[in-house]
Amino acid sequence: MAEAKVAKVEKTDAEWREILTPEQYHVMREKGTERAFTGALVNNHEDGIYRCGACNAELFPSDTKFESGSGWPSFWTPVRPDAVEMHTDTTYGMRRVEVTCATCGAHLGHVFPDGPKPTGQRFCINSASLAFEKQS
Ligand code: FE
Repeated sequence: MAEAKVAKVEKTDAEWREILTPEQYHVMREKGTERAFTGALVNNHEDGIYRCGACNAELFPSDTKFESGSGWPSFWTPVRPDAVEMHTDTTYGMRRVEVTCATCGAHLGHVFPDGPKPTGQRFCINSASLAFEKQS
């Protein structure tokens, strides 16, 4: 049986530049990293859903966010396994696993194997890559 695929969002570089702020563009399209503890959502504790800041796809429910002390919003699992994609990243002399939005390809951050139970994963995500939607 065919596997359900995430519907892709594809835009040109010029279109992304028009939609995104310069900071969002730098992080999501150029794989930049916001400075630790500077992001708008690091200390957000409200109930809701964290969506992709570029395409609005659902990425991380607020009940998967935890205090990692890293200075970036941290989650122990995405909303669905196919919401994000992982890629080996060997830039800056490190071997890390990059996390991108499965829908639009935006750079989100990295995932590390030192997170809390039950997954043991720590998705370290830039605030600039996220849009928070509060649920009442
Ligand atoms: Fe996206």
